[in-house]
Amino acid sequence: MIPVAEAEAMILDCVRPLDPTQDSEAVALSEASDRLLAQTVTSDRDFPYWDNSAMDGYAVRHADVAQATAAQPVTLEVASEIPAGKPATQALLPGQAARIFTGAVMPAGADTVVMQENTVRDGTTVKILAAPAVGQFVRRQGDFYQAGQPLLTPGIAVSPADVAVLATAQCSRLQVFRRLQVAIFSTGDELILPDQALQPGQIVDSNQYALTAFVRRLGAIPLPLGIIRDQPERIRAAIAQATSTADIVLSTGGVSVGEYDFIDQTIQELGGKIHLRKVAIKPGKPLTFATFERDGRHCLYFGIPGNPVSALATCYRFVQPALRKRSGLADHWGPLFVTARSRHDLRADGKRETYLWGQLQLVDGSFEFALASGQHNSGNLINLAQTSGFAVLPVGRTAIAAGDLVSVMQI
Ligand code: AMP
Ligand code: MG
Repeated sequence: MIPVAEAEAMILDCVRPLDPTQDSEAVALSEASDRLLAQTVTSDRDFPYWDNSAMDGYAVRHADVAQATAAQPVTLEVASEIPAGKPATQALLPGQAARIFTGAVMPAGADTVVMQENTVRDGTTVKILAAPAVGQFVRRQGDFYQAGQPLLTPGIAVSPADVAVLATAQCSRLQVFRRLQVAIFSTGDELILPDQALQPGQIVDSNQYALTAFVRRLGAIPLPLGIIRDQPERIRAAIAQATSTADIVLSTGGVSVGEYDFIDQTIQELGGKIHLRKVAIKPGKPLTFATFERDGRHCLYFGIPGNPVSALATCYRFVQPALRKRSGLADHWGPLFVTARSRHDLRADGKRETYLWGQLQLVDGSFEFALASGQHNSGNLINLAQTSGFAVLPVGRTAIAAGDLVSVMQI
């Protein structure tokens, strides 16, 4: 059994990220949100594009108004008016001011803006009542960004704020990593679809749906392959098909030591390389991780335990970082752990890193963890509803008392 952190590192080490040139596609800016950028974005324009006013007021030559006070105002001729969106066509001469509005282009000759509140307008002249600092209320060309510098770098997830930056840089199409294709199938003779009549001994295949939802949330394309019966030839056909089409394969069930657990054996027969079989985690111990390298294709295979709780814990703890790294995301692949105050006593056997599910809540600025009520049995998926975090008890830790701090994996 391999410790959890070591297993995660080992998995990440095997993951080859998508290639920014071969595995990217062009999308319109309006479709770019949440996609992963596969290029460096630069602009050939400075930002601000040109010197402009940060205020409604008057553009002036500082030297003209350096002595202005309320008692001895300086009177200037209002030579032009420059609204936002129009070029400043007339250069400012000594003794002149230009009426200007926020965002409007500074006229040549002007170096300072006097805010409207410090002026009195009188027909074609304006009185300046206070001396501004040199350059006051002028946003200078290139103050925020100089042409040619990288604006956004590959491997970031495009956020709404990034979309604003991209629009400003007039980047209306951009290269993003293609979405990963993730094949998903469930194995088990006992499984039926949710709309089939339940016969004695059967259970509904919940994993297929849960994993599909999980994959979709991570921005990948799920390829659900359905329920595969516990027969070596069917398992073999499913693994062969999945590994030759998808970037990542998630199968559930069939990785324990039972008579009907054929996954590991089949992976090897098909040329997959198994890197991991058992992890010191509870729930989720029997986790098979393998890679397939065929004709230049790199496919990650996760043989996930069938138990629905184990399956989800495994997905969040191990599949998520691998999927994120494979997708082209530059960093932050692992789950987010936060420190929370536990509202309940937490118990574990201390032998494996234990993940207890419940709700992570922010209360008055601090995290609190509430253990899901009901039995903490990995077969109990009912109290998994509304899970937003897993409290983690490390190996050797058998209890955390209510009121004490615990590390919680946020999901
Ligand atoms: P296995 O890993 O195949 O030994 O399955 C472990 C447990 O999880 C058994 O009780 C299965 O019935 C249950 N199980 C396996 N696959 C699924 C699934 N797709 N949906 C719900 N429960 C499952
Ligand atoms: Mg099974």
